[in-house]
Amino acid sequence: MFNLKRFLICLILGAAIYRPEAKGQLPGAPIDVEHYRFDIQLNDLNDVMKGEAAISLKYLQNTSSTQLDLIKQDKTGKGMLVEWIKENGKKLHFFQDGDKVTIYRAAKANQRHCYVIKYSGIPADGLVISTNIFGHRTFFGDNWPNRAHNWLPCVDLPADKASVDFYVTAPSHYQVIANGLKVSDIILPGALKLTHWKEVNSLPTKVMVIGVADFAIDHVGLVAGIPVESYVYPENKTPGFRDYAAAKAILPFYIKKIGPYAYQKLANVQSKTRFGGMENASAIFYFEKSVGSPDIEALMAHEIAHQWFGDAVTEKKWQHIWLSEGFATYMTDLYLENKYGADTLKKRLDDARRKVIAFEAKRFTPVVDTAVNDNYMQLLNANSYEKGSWILHMLRHQLGDAVFMKAISNYYKHYKGANANTDDLRREFEDASGISLKAYFKQWLYTAGHPHLKITSRYDVDRKSTVLHIEQTQERLFEFSLEIATRAKPAVHTYAIKQRITDIELPFALAQDVLTFDPGVNLLFDYQLMLN
Ligand SMILES: [Zn+2]
Repeated sequence: MFNLKRFLICLILGAAIYRPEAKGQLPGAPIDVEHYRFDIQLNDLNDVMKGEAAISLKYLQNTSSTQLDLIKQDKTGKGMLVEWIKENGKKLHFFQDGDKVTIYRAAKANQRHCYVIKYSGIPADGLVISTNIFGHRTFFGDNWPNRAHNWLPCVDLPADKASVDFYVTAPSHYQVIANGLKVSDIILPGALKLTHWKEVNSLPTKVMVIGVADFAIDHVGLVAGIPVESYVYPENKTPGFRDYAAAKAILPFYIKKIGPYAYQKLANVQSKTRFGGMENASAIFYFEKSVGSPDIEALMAHEIAHQWFGDAVTEKKWQHIWLSEGFATYMTDLYLENKYGADTLKKRLDDARRKVIAFEAKRFTPVVDTAVNDNYMQLLNANSYEKGSWILHMLRHQLGDAVFMKAISNYYKHYKGANANTDDLRREFEDASGISLKAYFKQWLYTAGHPHLKITSRYDVDRKSTVLHIEQTQERLFEFSLEIATRAKPAVHTYAIKQRITDIELPFALAQDVLTFDPGVNLLFDYQLMLN
């Protein structure tokens, strides 16, 4: 009976989904997936999952075959085996090898097709089947960056976004969480339960998710009509509900600051994710010991910010991941600055600057790192997070709060539900500010390093002034403003630096040792000061 229902849904979707353009796909991509329907069966006896995936897609080119990503079962017995692929109830020829399934079916550009794939196996990764800290069996999706195709046939790239339905059949003692809104929970014979979650917004596969475990669930409340919920292990119910309730204050801050929340609920879930937090759309997963962690508020602020940046607006390619991580880091800074004050922001920026400089000593590479074309885990580095946040902070300082937030809001409004790259963001800042930022983006995002200054300070007794000799010692020159003050007089003097050598006569009749460079923590740089 489920097969018939699935077949009908495929046909309806094929006809009903209308998109004016493949907004999220990369130029030259052969297909654009528009909708996934995943039917997943789990059990308590073994780790085999059975799947049926109905994939509705639009062709962007004429083709004789279609490739999808899916890891095939290997010698260890882990991976997925496809049993059959059908369209309109008819079996199609296919070939499965390595990490691809090829469907032999000719199609023309702009045609829509829906393929149903029946498969099963033990996931090698992507769906983590194990036991939690309390010894109970759990199933948690953990797809980032491209681990979804360990358990879901899909186009496992951030640029191909699609809506998704998860139908999960599991022993009835479990609670099931996934993206979107819960449509139904149906008790089936054999102590099983079928749970249907529906996400109508287009998501990249990296943030599609299910979680199946014994959960205690807290309905924290509504924020702008959005239900906020906590899913924690029953043993952690009291501290978990207390800690995860922080989401209720974080969500309205971002809605006010950036724009409307893109999804229909926000669930915060204790899980087995390998990351500290994983920003699955509308169902954020946190590491098991996040409950009771002193950093939980900042962690939640980071993951909730990703709902705007990473999930709703997704980088077109992994190399632009700073549009996710740099944004989530800086939005967290803004949230904490608003709550705890400017010194908290300064402290975080100062720590971040140290991390960036330490990272550059190990790996000297631009933020938009085109050298990384696989092993995307290495992009989870201080360039993507802390340097990304610094680049936003310096833009804010240069353009002012109002223009900065206008550009961020416009960027979100224009790319919500779709994909963007670094140039798309630059254009938003240029439109909001009326100034060209090509040089700024080039030097901070496409050039490795930061200004390293050798500053020689000399007190001129006759002129009663301090003379600075400033040298940029890094290889490529940067253009930036350097702010200088003294401890006694906090008035800030700003100097434009762009040459290899800049000599400045300061208007201070003060001794040299009271100079402070960048007192507001507004420049990503480091320096050595020498007194003459
Ligand atoms: Zn993040």
